[in-house]
Amino acid sequence: MTTARHRRPAIGGAQRRQDEAGRQGEKTVHELTLAENVIAIAEAAARRAGARRVTRVRLALGLLAHVETDTLLYCCRLAARDTLAADAEFQAERRPAQAHCGDCGRQAELAALPARCPGCGGENLDLRGGEEMKVVDIGIS
Ligand SMILES: [Zn+2]
Repeated sequence: MTTARHRRPAIGGAQRRQDEAGRQGEKTVHELTLAENVIAIAEAAARRAGARRVTRVRLALGLLAHVETDTLLYCCRLAARDTLAADAEFQAERRPAQAHCGDCGRQAELAALPARCPGCGGENLDLRGGEEMKVVDIGIS
């Protein structure tokens, strides 16, 4: 974790605006790939349990995960076609990141971007735990 200090949120923000302007298609492919993984995980869980269908899939997205929540949910519904999860309900929640301010030393939970220290307003933040994407709950029947 020695290289963990960075300014990724600020860079990520600029990157995202560029993506929206010129690379929307590429982004959607990225989210579709993630969605296909989600469906594979859900189907595997259903098969292991001997279930016939997946009724619900709940995802947790870190604040810094490079996905659009709505796009990901849309891609999940697309990827679920003709699978055990075809009628599943998809939900996603954003999880906060942990921030440590390199200027004033404050520790804080960060729930929104752009990332700024709640103590001093600085951007010299070391961020952790905000990039994960997890399937947290799968409903089957
Ligand atoms: Zn600070």
